Amino acid sequence: MKVTKSEFVISAVGASQYPEDALPEIALAGRSNVGKSSLINKMINRKNLARTSSTPGKTQQLNYYRINDELYLVDFPGYGFAKVSKTQRQAWGAMIEGYLLNRDPLKLLLLILDLRHPPSKDDMVMYDWISHYDLPVCVVATKADKIPRSRWAKHIKQMKESLSLRIDHPMVLFSSETGLGKDELWGIINAHAKA
Ligand code: GDP
Repeated sequence: MKVTKSEFVISAVGASQYPEDALPEIALAGRSNVGKSSLINKMINRKNLARTSSTPGKTQQLNYYRINDELYLVDFPGYGFAKVSKTQRQAWGAMIEGYLLNRDPLKLLLLILDLRHPPSKDDMVMYDWISHYDLPVCVVATKADKIPRSRWAKHIKQMKESLSLRIDHPMVLFSSETGLGKDELWGIINAHAKA
């Protein structure tokens, strides 16, 4: 997709603030620091629209970006940040769960993982939960440029095995540094947005 317009719309702290224009929504989830903001910026050709290194502690905020007036990318707060309290964790869970289970315009969830490392416990819980509810998901393994190409296949295999990735769930190899996987990911996003 050729992105000609991208704008930050709102940091929504509750369902009443979610947009009402019914454009398709593509949500992004992943651990803090996994590279979610960098991925968004790369996808929309912007250096800094999605803040790199998002502030930890802001556990209850969905950031909406409107792309080409066609769809929204919806950035979830990063999870797995050690300093977050139990209460904040629960608030995160309630907000995300409410969104994922009730949000009609939601078309696809991108679960962002770091290709270099095995999925964390939080990643696995997230993936199992998504699978359980049979939500449409695409796993994105980012930071691919950080390991040699010769080791990609091994890491992908390990990641698929750790997650017990379902055959109907795609996995995209990505790099916000080189743009690897960008066109493939837009293809998957558009297919779901238009479905
Ligand atoms: P977020 O907390 O998930 O939004 O993570 P950020 O996008 O802020 O990225 C965390 C750190 O990883 C930053 O220093 C980024 O520059 C770096 N980073 C993110 N994606 C990539 C990537 O694909 N390749 C490389 N080499 N570094 C990346």
